[in-house]
Amino acid sequence: MLDRSHKPSLRSQAMTIFNKIINKEIPAKIVYEDDLCMAFHDVTPQAPTHILMIPKKQIRSMAEVKAEDKEVLGHMMVKCSEIAAKLGVSEKGFRLVVNTNSWGGQSVYHLHIHLLAGRALSWPPG
Ligand code: 5GP
Repeated sequence: MLDRSHKPSLRSQAMTIFNKIINKEIPAKIVYEDDLCMAFHDVTPQAPTHILMIPKKQIRSMAEVKAEDKEVLGHMMVKCSEIAAKLGVSEKGFRLVVNTNSWGGQSVYHLHIHLLAGRALSWPPG
């Protein structure tokens, strides 16, 4: 059964700027939204196309993902693929990135998938 509530659990978790975007308290250029997730343009794009895909459920990072989150995470991946197609970047290619905790380069502690496209991306990352 999918948990469609996106209220933080009683175990207190810090709100982030992404909660304000979910609650429409601050603006974002939203490209997709449903009960479970939301996707919007990154405010500081690192590529010509740079979308952030987030769950509405408050999950701090990939390091805190639980088995019960597998459906929402799978749903987000499917939607990223659909968004890439809609934005016309599928054929050339794109990259999905989930920065996790300090050494992973995470700065906003609400799990998010970066969808980067529109230029050739180098490897390995810095
Ligand atoms: P992280 O560094 O945690 O992997 O990625 C966080 C991303 O959130 C960064 O790419 C940053 O540019 C983006 N970001 C931070 N604040 C905002 C905001 O208020 N609006 C939008 N659209 N993106 C934001």
